Amino acid sequence: MRRARGGLIVIVTSQLQADAANFRETVAAGDYWMQVVTQGQTIRILDLEGNQAADTLFYSASDPGERYSAMDTIREQGNVYLTAGTHLISNEGNAMLEIVADTCGRHDTLGGACATESNTVRYSLDKKCMHACRDSWMLAVAENEHFGLTKRDITHNINFFMNVPVTVDGGLTFADGISDAGKYVELRALMDVIVLISNCPQLNNPCNAYNPTPIEVLIWN
Ligand SMILES: [Zn+2]
Repeated sequence: MRRARGGLIVIVTSQLQADAANFRETVAAGDYWMQVVTQGQTIRILDLEGNQAADTLFYSASDPGERYSAMDTIREQGNVYLTAGTHLISNEGNAMLEIVADTCGRHDTLGGACATESNTVRYSLDKKCMHACRDSWMLAVAENEHFGLTKRDITHNINFFMNVPVTVDGGLTFADGISDAGKYVELRALMDVIVLISNCPQLNNPCNAYNPTPIEVLIWN
């Protein structure tokens, strides 16, 4: 374990071997990845080049009305940062996945995802046309109608690898990342879940070092 600004960082390495994975796919920056991960499977999100942000949503595959809830997760673990040992809690109070390995050590669930609207407010009007995570999610639900999701289902997300330290007076800051090339987070599914990742294309803040890069998704049965 090591300490970083704002709290304890927990590092837990995985025993799983990448070449034994049942599924591997590289996701370019600005693309989305959407697939069902079944109960008992383990999914790894790998930060290939470092300092990337993977904006991720989770839904119950059997009832997408049940989905990841940031507030229930934070309340249940009594901490705003996600790391190994965190159970991702749904809006119905069920544990959906558990973070079982984590070599980055801390992930954000407070900052939300980038959108063209927030880019306009935070940065400037001419950022309106820039690609944002919310657009990737909207494209994903439109191109995957069989999941039965619409834009109204886009809610709380996790920003894997993103560093949003809370200041002593409660402020949120988008800080330079603490992730690095080859760092990963691994989650075991405790129910069948739809995983929807937007590999963030953001160019205006340091969440991905102003340089969006690919991630890799691996799954073990
Ligand atoms: Zn984004």
